[in-house]
Amino acid sequence: MQFHFIANAAQEASSGRTLPVIDPSDGQAFDAIQRGTPQDIDRAVRAARQCYDSVWSRLSGAERGRLLMRLAEAVADNADELAGLEQRDCGKPTRQARADAVALVRYFEFYAGACDKLHGETIPYQDGYTVLTWREPHGVTGHVIPWNYPMQIFGRSVGGALAAGNVCVVKPSEDACLSLIRLAQLAADCGFPAGAINIVTGLGHEVGDALARHPGIDHISFTGSPRVGTLIQQAAAERHCPVTLELGGKSPQILFEDADLDAALPAVVNAIVQNAGQTCSAGSRLLVHKSIYEAVLDRLGEAFSNLRVGPAAMDLDVGPLIRATQQQRVWDFLSDAQTAHIPMVAQGQIVEEAPDGGFYQAPALLRDVPIDHRLAQEEVFGPVLAAMAFRDEDQAVQLANATQFGLVAGVWTRDGARQLRMARRVHSGQVFINNYGAGGGVELPFGGVKSSGYGREKGFEALYGFTTLKTVAIRHG
Ligand code: NAP
Ligand code: MG
Repeated sequence: MQFHFIANAAQEASSGRTLPVIDPSDGQAFDAIQRGTPQDIDRAVRAARQCYDSVWSRLSGAERGRLLMRLAEAVADNADELAGLEQRDCGKPTRQARADAVALVRYFEFYAGACDKLHGETIPYQDGYTVLTWREPHGVTGHVIPWNYPMQIFGRSVGGALAAGNVCVVKPSEDACLSLIRLAQLAADCGFPAGAINIVTGLGHEVGDALARHPGIDHISFTGSPRVGTLIQQAAAERHCPVTLELGGKSPQILFEDADLDAALPAVVNAIVQNAGQTCSAGSRLLVHKSIYEAVLDRLGEAFSNLRVGPAAMDLDVGPLIRATQQQRVWDFLSDAQTAHIPMVAQGQIVEEAPDGGFYQAPALLRDVPIDHRLAQEEVFGPVLAAMAFRDEDQAVQLANATQFGLVAGVWTRDGARQLRMARRVHSGQVFINNYGAGGGVELPFGGVKSSGYGREKGFEALYGFTTLKTVAIRHG
């Protein structure tokens, strides 16, 4: 049985109710979490505020940095356990779960080093004045975290907030709580004061909503779907609470005729099958110059046919989807594609060992997807790649920008001038040239434009979002 973690203690939900924890590899419940309530959120916010006022706001940046560095070391020491929890809870193949634990260590290291480097400026002004700016923490920050990369998103969001001097109340997805509860316990063991990191589990529309509405929350960092992002914004708007939104994407991989296909094609496959396609920055649209379209689809078709899907512990190319409703969502997209006569080039294989109750989906490559079809416009959040051809650079740009999203884009060309033109013309938060994702470096600011959200997390840039700027003008004559 799992509990909330509030003020460095395991606590039961005031509802007295629990929710099952499901293993996506077999669909079976193997644990339970607390079904939190608005009262539990209130308890956590009070604990956080108490911590902020009495301890956290008095620590120097260097002291916060030491705590975060200790937490980085504790995560490294317990990486196998954390990865194992996330593997079982979220259906992540072993190597992916371990890579997420390694990334978490990097987030804490990076933000540990940043704590004492965030400062304001002096502004030259009129004679007789000295003007300063200070970067002050918001205070108590709320973090709503999705199920696809709980450790990584906790690292970038909570890590940045703590580094900037805030204390945190975290609402994980009901489908992915285990690694984060354990992480909060590790933080307490490392010496984080009671109330600095609080975890309240439960349903989005119950505790997530209560967190967004709570008057004691001074900033909200939300990662999830555009639909819920809107609800969070609306709740926050009531009291003008600042929000950072990391929403979805329909990110294009753009292959020009001079692309190095030996480098590009494995990256194209990886960008849509990693975490079974349940990645906000998944490369889910493939735009290919018409002169190489058939050759690219031939090679990718072979690669897709060889992909193997199975239980997380088998550590194959692809694990299960998170839950049955997500599987149904992917099926609906594929059935709509069939109705629209969109050709399927190839599909991967689900291995025989995969238990019947697991939420498996074979990766699918579809071609000639019309740009206005929902497969080219909406986020599937599964291992489904929609390919289409373009005739020239202008059309590539037009197709790349023709969705409501703008999170990430990959551009593959050897032409240096075109690389820069494309980087300017594609409307997205990140553009990768001759790579996709740059290995996910924690140093690289991340976030979207349009319905992909706003504000940036990761990198030093995130710290500006987790602070507010105060201008102090002194008239001294
Ligand atoms: P979701 O339904 O939006 O859920 C995200 C989080 O919000 C979960 O913790 C969820 O809790 C909570 N939530 C749900 N309803 C809420 C409400 N009314 N008020 C407050 N919180 C609420 O998204 P998801 O299906 O879990 O995740 C997939 C989506 O997230 C995709 O669209 C994906 O692109 C996006 N995403 C974006 C990024 C990024 O960095 N840009 C990263 C990861 C995922 P429960 O799960 O407990 O309901
Ligand atoms: Mg689970």
